[in-house]
Amino acid sequence: MFDFKTHFSTVLKGLEAEGRYRHFKTLERPVGRFPQATIHHKNGYKQNVTVWCSNDYLGMSHNPKVIAAMQSAAAAHGSGAGGTRNIAGTTSEMVELESLMAIHHGKEAALVFTSGYTANEGALGVLGKLLPNAIVFSDTLNHASMISGMRIGGCEKRIFPHNDIDALRAGLQAQPVNRPKIVAIESVYSMEGDISPLKDIVKLAKEYGALVYLDEVHAVGMYGPHGAGVAEREGVMADIDVIEGTFGKAYGVVGGYVAGNREVVDAIRSFASSFIFTTALPPAVLAAAATSVTHLRESNTEREAQRRVVNYLKKRFAETDMPYLKGESHIVPLVVGDAHCVKAVTDTLLEHYNIYVQPINYPTVPKGTERLRLTATARHSEADVDALVDALQELWSTHAIGHQQRA
Ligand SMILES: *Cc1c(COP(=O)(O)O)cnc(C)c1O
Repeated sequence: MFDFKTHFSTVLKGLEAEGRYRHFKTLERPVGRFPQATIHHKNGYKQNVTVWCSNDYLGMSHNPKVIAAMQSAAAAHGSGAGGTRNIAGTTSEMVELESLMAIHHGKEAALVFTSGYTANEGALGVLGKLLPNAIVFSDTLNHASMISGMRIGGCEKRIFPHNDIDALRAGLQAQPVNRPKIVAIESVYSMEGDISPLKDIVKLAKEYGALVYLDEVHAVGMYGPHGAGVAEREGVMADIDVIEGTFGKAYGVVGGYVAGNREVVDAIRSFASSFIFTTALPPAVLAAAATSVTHLRESNTEREAQRRVVNYLKKRFAETDMPYLKGESHIVPLVVGDAHCVKAVTDTLLEHYNIYVQPINYPTVPKGTERLRLTATARHSEADVDALVDALQELWSTHAIGHQQRA
């Protein structure tokens, strides 16, 4: 009979041999010490570290107002929603948050999902299924959740090279005028640290009557005068048909959403499996998300502080000739180019410098482009940056890392 245990063990050994077995660190993130945290090692040792890989870019998960909103909503309305949205899960906190997100993005409606992942799966799945004979144009670096959504949608898909406007134009041009076309892109590409040419893409999509689907997961809270994303910053929010975002990254909570016109959002609500067949988020989570979004609509303090740290980090990398990817965004990737090597780098950073960065491996990025993905937050100090850059420089010079990139 089939030996399941041995089979899984062989698969896992293969991952280990390739250097991309995923080791998770147990992290304690005490409120008040962000971005410092404590790693609990298996042997009981507790190590204080500086975290350089968190998506809690603005430290909002430790914001006192956000925590208080979560606590008081839990005290008032309990720990769970009590059901799917179809069966008893639509709470007043949900209605308020959806109306806030519609206003936030200048749209008629918004729909909250349990995560950004399920929002992309649900929304792109519905678009692909409902639009007759549709074709979707997808940037080659789109996130796994978008790819999964397009697969669920099942319509024809054309992948265009990353941010390549000419290729996208050629693709759109080749299609019949009346065929429904979808352009699916992100604003901030979190593994490259770059930002899509949104204005140009929107203009092009308009020209060919294509629907624009924009993942702003790494941009909401971060860009634009109210933190509504790159589309807000670029003044093209009204031209984006569906904006998708998360409460889990800069907003510091959890959950995802889409915003758009009433009809498209209602269609997604009516047909998306990942929306319909799962328990709604608890009121406490929704109240915390609303508080975080509201705070960041009014306050630029966190965004400005984060920008300063990012700029300082990039300046130090430029001065020390480190091969970082020179994107425009707040994310700073440093390509190492080999799974074993990137793991050796992150292990050494942790062991000798008390710096925690998770290695980024295939399939998150292509093989041969394994990297560190450094995320400065509003709470890192210049001393934190200096410690990081000094450590990396030491590693780069003693271990001759990154030669493929420089050659
Ligand atoms: C993290 C991420 C998602 C998923 O969002 P979650 O709320 O974490 O599920 C979607 N798109 C992109 C580009 C992401 O990086």
